[in-house]
Amino acid sequence: MIEFDLDDVITDCQEIVRLGILERTGYDITYDRQTYYVQIEGLTNKDIGNMVFEILLKDTKKMKAIPGAIESLEHIAKLIRRPIGIVTSRREKLREVTADWMAYNIKDRFKYHLVFTNGDSKTPHLAKDTRFFVDDNAENIKDLSKQLDNIFVINRGWNENMLLPKNAIRVNDLKPVARFISKMM
Ligand SMILES: [Mg+2]
Repeated sequence: MIEFDLDDVITDCQEIVRLGILERTGYDITYDRQTYYVQIEGLTNKDIGNMVFEILLKDTKKMKAIPGAIESLEHIAKLIRRPIGIVTSRREKLREVTADWMAYNIKDRFKYHLVFTNGDSKTPHLAKDTRFFVDDNAENIKDLSKQLDNIFVINRGWNENMLLPKNAIRVNDLKPVARFISKMM
């Protein structure tokens, strides 16, 4: 039915990544960066990928939830009467810290299951009847839009100038997604 990305859809990931990079390199990527993949002079994409991985490993526990996200997911879980599917590009090695974050922040407000793609395409990891997805990353949005009815795009600096596929719907948060599902049921 519907599934969700995790970082910057449910977790406020960009804050922790910004602070982590600032602490390690002195470079401020700010809150309105225009590219999803961080670029820092003198560092390769691999260096930066590993640094972001280390930040997520150490500081996932400090992440806040996006305001209202947990409430909207709780509402959606009631509407669809099944666990919320979360498909993240995070590496498998982040499973434990991620599961701890979910348990601490969601408690028993709704049931969910977590899938890790290790940076691969999300499409082979979706439930068979998934028709909708919520994401913020341009590559995922393009990829998922080919196979799904609609993809909800959470507005972020790194996707604001992106030419969206026809079946994409821009939203600021999960509230309009909950309303959409509510109308469908
Ligand atoms: Mg994301």
